Amino acid sequence: MTSGAQANEDTVEDKVVEFYDNFTEVFREIWGDNLHVGYWHDAADEAPVEKATDQLTDQLIARLAPRQGQRILDVGCGIGEPAFRLARAAAVDVVGVSISRYQVGRANERAGALDLAGRVSFQYADAAELPFPDASFDGAWAFESLIHMPDKEKVLREIKRVLRPGSTLVLADMFSQPDTELTFQDIITTPEMSDYRAVIEQAGLVVQDITDITANTLAPQSVRDGIAADLLARKDDVIAMTGPEEFERMVDGVRVPKAYGYLLATVTTD
Ligand code: SAH
Repeated sequence: MTSGAQANEDTVEDKVVEFYDNFTEVFREIWGDNLHVGYWHDAADEAPVEKATDQLTDQLIARLAPRQGQRILDVGCGIGEPAFRLARAAAVDVVGVSISRYQVGRANERAGALDLAGRVSFQYADAAELPFPDASFDGAWAFESLIHMPDKEKVLREIKRVLRPGSTLVLADMFSQPDTELTFQDIITTPEMSDYRAVIEQAGLVVQDITDITANTLAPQSVRDGIAADLLARKDDVIAMTGPEEFERMVDGVRVPKAYGYLLATVTTD
């Protein structure tokens, strides 16, 4: 399934499903329940990955500014950790969707175990065809999920369709930088920062703010060394997911900060 292994007719969506159905648990064991990068406030912040990934969720919650009683859509929900944090921070209902049925099952189980099932639920859906009526949500985020969706304009239009006028949509996504090879190229496509705003605007959304937070996503060296050690300790499992060449690139990228980019955007419907 990894790049170059064999040519086949699988779509990006098929590959993403295969990746998350098979590797969500490996990812979790190494990284934790948040399937996204960490956020470190400044050079003095030595938060471990579990805390730093929650800190990134808090940045999105602040941008979303949820109000009591709102219904929020979580596009690409993973196993639900960001949705649970949002639901604990504000008296809102959250509906998460993922293209991985495995993740949807795990996320709903976890909602039940956390006693949040009354307000937080998850269902299978492709973000390009959301199974919801027009104007049925008050806000949304796509938290490190657009990266897997080649036709971002289409997905953004679809999210816009299900949002009520005056809603906020928060985006957290990687962007590519010149001369940088991202890992997982068969399941990741993303424009450069300079093109990102145009994609959002072409979908008919209004950009309120778009900020390059790459520097905040680079872990301090002490944390990096720990992550590299964890990856090496789980080498066989991780290689099953990445292939040997990608594995080397990943470990190098953890040890020495790599020039991928990361942005947060606050977007509104008119
Ligand atoms: N937001 C979660 C998960 C991020 S990982 C977190 O921060 O923990 C990327 C997520 O996007 C996965 O849940 C994956 O299944 C989902 N995803 C990727 N492509 C998708 C698509 N076309 N439709 C719906 N979800 C998708």
